[in-house]
Amino acid sequence: MKIATIEVFPIALPMKAVLTLPRGASHTPDVGRRSSVVKITADDGTVGWGESMPSPRWSAETLESCVAAQRRYLGPAVIGHDPFDIAGLHARMDRELAPLFDPGQPIAKAAIDIAVHDLVCRKLGITLQSWLGAKRRGSVQLARLVSAGSAEDAARITRDAHAQGFRGFKVKVGHAPEKDEAIVAAVIEAAQGGYVWPDANQGYDVETAIAKSRAFERLGITLFEQPLPVTDIAGLQRLMRSTGLTIALDESVLSAPMLLDFLKRDLVQGIAIKLGKVGGIHHARRICDMAQAAGVRLIGSGLMDPPLGFAASVHLFAAYGMDLPVDLNGPQHIAEDYLAAPFAMRGQEALVPEGPGLGVTVDEAKLSRFALDVGLR
Ligand SMILES: [Mg+2]
Repeated sequence: MKIATIEVFPIALPMKAVLTLPRGASHTPDVGRRSSVVKITADDGTVGWGESMPSPRWSAETLESCVAAQRRYLGPAVIGHDPFDIAGLHARMDRELAPLFDPGQPIAKAAIDIAVHDLVCRKLGITLQSWLGAKRRGSVQLARLVSAGSAEDAARITRDAHAQGFRGFKVKVGHAPEKDEAIVAAVIEAAQGGYVWPDANQGYDVETAIAKSRAFERLGITLFEQPLPVTDIAGLQRLMRSTGLTIALDESVLSAPMLLDFLKRDLVQGIAIKLGKVGGIHHARRICDMAQAAGVRLIGSGLMDPPLGFAASVHLFAAYGMDLPVDLNGPQHIAEDYLAAPFAMRGQEALVPEGPGLGVTVDEAKLSRFALDVGLR
């Protein structure tokens, strides 16, 4: 069996809400949630679908860079490759776009990785979770992302989300540090016992991170995501000596070799797993296996994933038994998508799809309605 064709569909999905990071809004309703959907067809006609989820204010990849990488470099490199040799597929992609600290344009590579996993699972008639060989959970609980400029707004968002059935709340901090304790306290109160954790997306310096960690700990927080810039390793050492919180690394750990390095330095207690940042399922499962073996807390995360990335993440997170609510906030922000049938949910719990592969079906007519011309053929 060989990969015969790769088609890349740049799209913009309509949005219903904005997500603001410390560097500003990553996606806005006027441009939509942009992604490149990838369709891979094997020489026997089996098809697999995958997707990139670029978030330029989170990392340096864009829709245009993903499309260029996929059409000009990664696609041609994997045509003719046996899709069951997924390690070899990554080796071919890595020869074209070299890994450095991250796997080298991981968000572009993730789409191809996800599509090939979908394809081989469809060929075998099994779910992606079965391919991963672990059924620790049959569903994952979604967290509500709370990104607010004031404690009042944060409380209102959390109350509304609690009424909608959310029991996990990730709070964006670091926009205006002087307000952060009040915002986190307001979320904790409105969450009524739900799990709350802050994510600073590298937004603090070390002195602020130490002070905020102590304040959050007094509020009852137990885990704090990516307080410091990725480059401040010495700061991370100081912070970890100064706080009882579990410091979860997100932007700091982008690959298995990086995780290994942090483990050797005894600098990692928790990591956020995102399919996009690590280059897809193949690398994510290596990282999850290493983390579990080392006793590192895994938290599920994403990059406002549209449905294909969302579905792949649900299979992975359920396979690894992620017991904390996961930050897959695509459904919170994306108003319309290209699936033939909506993703199966029970309240705010995403059920692992039971069909082969990712278990979701792309409606190509719907997909074409969201097409975007990015000028790269
Ligand atoms: Mg994060």
